[in-house]
Amino acid sequence: MNQVQKNLLIKEVLHMGEMASGAALTVPVYRLKGQGSGPGVYIQANMHGAEVQGNAVIYQLLELLQGLTLLGNITLVPYANPVGCNHKNGEYTLGRFDPITGVNWNRMYHFNEQQIPEFSEQHQASSIEVIEQAFRELLLADIADKLDHNVFGLTTGQRIAYQLQKMAHKADLVLDLHTGPISSKHLYCPEYAIDSARYFDIPHTIVIPNSFDGAMDEATFCPWWTLQQAFGELGRELDFNKESFTVELGSQEQIDLDVAYQDALSILSYLQYKGVIADASFQPQAMTRYACYLKDYKAFYSPMGGMVDYLATFGEPLAAGEPIARILRMDNYGDGDALHYLSLDRPVIPILHFASASVNQGTELYKVFCEYFEL
Ligand SMILES: [Zn+2]
Repeated sequence: MNQVQKNLLIKEVLHMGEMASGAALTVPVYRLKGQGSGPGVYIQANMHGAEVQGNAVIYQLLELLQGLTLLGNITLVPYANPVGCNHKNGEYTLGRFDPITGVNWNRMYHFNEQQIPEFSEQHQASSIEVIEQAFRELLLADIADKLDHNVFGLTTGQRIAYQLQKMAHKADLVLDLHTGPISSKHLYCPEYAIDSARYFDIPHTIVIPNSFDGAMDEATFCPWWTLQQAFGELGRELDFNKESFTVELGSQEQIDLDVAYQDALSILSYLQYKGVIADASFQPQAMTRYACYLKDYKAFYSPMGGMVDYLATFGEPLAAGEPIARILRMDNYGDGDALHYLSLDRPVIPILHFASASVNQGTELYKVFCEYFEL
């Protein structure tokens, strides 16, 4: 029988905090060591409690990666947020917001833009290797300082986020695995990395600017993008080859291991393109890939309360005036309009919709691409 030589897998258990009873909040961390000087990779899943498919994708990735020739180190973290993951109410998982502060769990990462002008001045004449190493050390020291020398302490979410960010800053490529509510697969991609979006088997890409709003992807690419721009202003064009993506794997509250296998192949196609994997032939699938800029990724809020029949198909362009949903109002039956059709005044691509059929006036019904283009 042929035996596949397996890469050494190292497992650690990271202590993220403590519950009131003293119970430890822990997260499993899996590391695979690369045999070359390829880019380092960091992949985490389930920062939002109900968005569980990424854990299944990490399982499939671990199964596949152990038999491949790796040129860079890979760190994988399922169940990245042990509070969100266990935050149930009835049969549903909540876990999008810290229940104590109300803050979105994926808006608590850190970026200190103020450090960059001084750093770039100081390293104006340094080699790219020296700049890269010194800047990485600066990012790590900044996070370590936040974690260890904060007199007034940290919120539960900041403590979790900073510990994850510490691992992510050590990598060159960062994938944060999420899902939508009821959703098609889509990708948040920094504008400068748009070529990489073609290597994922994901038909919809949201192109995002260099602005930090507290999310993991931004916390790991904004520093390098800002640094690159600072050097540009000093007359040096540098490319640090750092990329981060939020990968939205479909709908929340479900795992599908077969789909997860396909998602893992899609990630391997990207990693091979970036030189993390040798001697393999992972190729992106042929598909029409649509993109739109973040400013054109619009939420459509319900103009009325009621029961929603979601009509539009994800990923398919919907012409202006075509019905996107219809709302049932049984309180109006017999003496008013029981059925209301909703449409938009421009062509869109529906990407995701609210997870429940009952909505209040003002509930975010759909998120759609406007002004979309083919990649
Ligand atoms: Zn999410």
